[in-house]
Amino acid sequence: MAPAESRGFALARERLTSFDRQFAADVRVQRPDRYRLLDALPADQPRIARGGGVSYVAASFGNDATTLDMRAFDRLLAFDDRAGVLCVEAGASIGDVQRFLLPHGWYVPVAPGHPRASIGGCVASDVHGKNPARDGTFRALVEELQLHVPGRGLLGVDARNDAALFDATIGGFGMTGTITHATLRLVRPPRAIALRRVPVDDLAQAARVLRESANAHVLYGWHDGRPDRFGRGVIRVGLSDDEAASRDVALSKNTDLPAAIAPLPVPLWNRNGIAVANSWLSRRWCKPGFEPIALAQALFPLNDARLYFAGYGKAGLVELQWLVPHPRFEAFAVALGDCVARERPRIALISSKLFDGVARGFALDGKGIALALHLPSPTQSSQRAFCERVAELAIEHGGRPNPIKDSTLDEAVMRRAFADFDATRDALAAHNRDGRFGSELTRRIGL
Ligand SMILES: Cc1cc2nc3c(=O)[nH]c(=O)nc-3n(C[C@H](O)[C@H](O)[C@H](O)COP(=O)(O)OP(=O)(O)OC[C@H]3O[C@@H](n4cnc5c(N)ncnc54)[C@H](O)[C@@H]3O)c2cc1C
Repeated sequence: MAPAESRGFALARERLTSFDRQFAADVRVQRPDRYRLLDALPADQPRIARGGGVSYVAASFGNDATTLDMRAFDRLLAFDDRAGVLCVEAGASIGDVQRFLLPHGWYVPVAPGHPRASIGGCVASDVHGKNPARDGTFRALVEELQLHVPGRGLLGVDARNDAALFDATIGGFGMTGTITHATLRLVRPPRAIALRRVPVDDLAQAARVLRESANAHVLYGWHDGRPDRFGRGVIRVGLSDDEAASRDVALSKNTDLPAAIAPLPVPLWNRNGIAVANSWLSRRWCKPGFEPIALAQALFPLNDARLYFAGYGKAGLVELQWLVPHPRFEAFAVALGDCVARERPRIALISSKLFDGVARGFALDGKGIALALHLPSPTQSSQRAFCERVAELAIEHGGRPNPIKDSTLDEAVMRRAFADFDATRDALAAHNRDGRFGSELTRRIGL
């Protein structure tokens, strides 16, 4: 709960730190709790909306902007139980929304791994969920948005009414205005999930399993990033378990991953720590097999990962996530493996996901396989050089990065990764003519 003096008009000064701990800044924060307070700042005041603040990167603060903390706008405004449509304020968390919907026999199929991500943040980053190849990205669910634009007030936008603004807002990193509410199309959830574990020896085999399982509710891989075991791991394939005895609705708020995780004073993920953790995970996860799990468990598996994130210590981590098109993926995986063998970076884990969407804007989508690499903060020059090498290789193989996750991206890399960088940036800038919306992320990647 925000202190009373920092709600509404008042501006608090606060130090905000990105989830990956790569950027921190002292910023002005406004916490509006009614719509008229969205007009409280002078119209030309630089600003940026913040939802849960759980982006890996500094997307909701920085660049001299006043942060608009939207968490007070967390009401469910309308729910059509028959048609499966929910209108919800932008500050509501995806975890709370699922907690409301599941007992009513509905859910939001595209849910990012952090339960405290807000609906506004899910729209503005066009997030993906447990299987983007099946469910698409958040864009697929959004019917209508309400947006606050200084000088224009509250605007209702959808695919027919101001389609350009609607389109740019989804995946627009908060640069087109402040989303106040969203109307979402819901889906009937599976009763429970039957989770199959398929061990894989390398990333080529992983790609085959992912492509063969495109229709699963849950589909992602975990892989070892050490040179001598590179790519070994497991694909988790979660199918609907309609034989399950009852619909599981236990999604306790108490177990939600915290928005900020206190770092351990001594980092765990040095070479030995990574070796121990990966060996343990291999023994625990990489046996072929099958287990029934609750949908709640399948939706937010990272709720159990506090120690994992704390283990990066005060310096934090970076996540490099690149989506490489199918025809080039196997060659990319081999080149990446060779690079790892040569440079022997510290990689704590690699995850893989299948995508089958349309590449547009700067958010992550397209047709191919995305790899996410977690590395301890690249304070050493060799780790930094490895991050640059991953970007080189991914770009050579037609890859697209994920700006909402990767703090190492800069404008030069973005320009090389997006052939249409100028046109895409201009389309976004057309809705932000006086440049009043921006963050550390948008500054860093040249938007
Ligand atoms: C542990 C972890 C797991 C994750 N798993 C996934 C995953 O599986 N898939 C995935 O795609 N992402 C994932 N993410 C990334 C995360 O889902 C996105 O960064 C998401 O945007 C965070 O939502 P938020 O509300 O915290 O947004 P914030 O971090 O507060 O802001 C993110 C962006 O959204 C904008 N924004 C927020 N609210 C509004 C609003 N009301 N109006 C306009 N703009 C707004 C901000 O300006 C900013 O540009 C994960 C992150 C973490 C830390």
